[in-house]
Amino acid sequence: MAGPDPALLSINAATVRAQWTLPRIIDGCARHGIRGIAPWRDQVAAIGLGDAAKRIRDAGLTVTGLCRGGMFPAADRAGRRAALDDNRRAVDEACALGARCLVLVVGGLPKDRAGTIVSRDLIGAREMVRDGLGELLEHAQGAGMPLAIEPLHPMYAADRACVNTLAHANALCDELCPKGSDGLGVAVDVYHVWWDPELAAGIARAGAADRLFAYHICDWLVPTTDLLNDRGMMGDGVVDLPRIREWMEAAGYRGMHEVEIFSQETWWKRDPDVVLATCRQRHAERS
Ligand code: ZN
Repeated sequence: MAGPDPALLSINAATVRAQWTLPRIIDGCARHGIRGIAPWRDQVAAIGLGDAAKRIRDAGLTVTGLCRGGMFPAADRAGRRAALDDNRRAVDEACALGARCLVLVVGGLPKDRAGTIVSRDLIGAREMVRDGLGELLEHAQGAGMPLAIEPLHPMYAADRACVNTLAHANALCDELCPKGSDGLGVAVDVYHVWWDPELAAGIARAGAADRLFAYHICDWLVPTTDLLNDRGMMGDGVVDLPRIREWMEAAGYRGMHEVEIFSQETWWKRDPDVVLATCRQRHAERS
């Protein structure tokens, strides 16, 4: 199998967030010949939306996604309203940055204002997600900003996302936009979905409806020592990345390959120039 086009490499800014601020990450991408970036809202807010947008534009980077919106479920109506308001702001920020999509981590069980889970009603949480998505979609469609539902590994169902498979994300898209994409699609992150026996079918189904908005890569380490912050560099774990890329390409995906690595004990401790050089090399050779 041929390796990926190096020009398709994008860096999720979390990959070097422990070492660098957003301006330095943007400069680093330029220095390493990396053409895409996916910033986080807190990184953007730290320097201001206008400044962030200008720096990214001046560097000629494609914004493969803004991280992130979502977190729809809440204990009460006021909480859900606050989440929706914040999501509308996230859509507007994504527009200002020229992002290809707003990535949505949809939220888990309802929490109170202090962030404590107050319910065991997972089915109800999924209904809140569907309803929240539907409401946000109206604003996003008006703004012309695609929304990408990112299914998360089921270990995060309680606290981060109760949409855990591509099949579930596809079903939500079908329910809310029955006639095809219409601004709602999915982000395929290999860390979350690599294990799924229905993955190939899910990618094909999303592609057929023009709903493949983003592709996030890293690797699954064995053992994984921290469920959130021990993602592996491509080639260091057990994910068959070339095969999943092949499925994405066969399904019609032509977008970038965004490296997203949260790594408290390894990559966040390395020289960030070494991290970016390694991303380039592993993208070319092991993805
Ligand atoms: Zn991701």
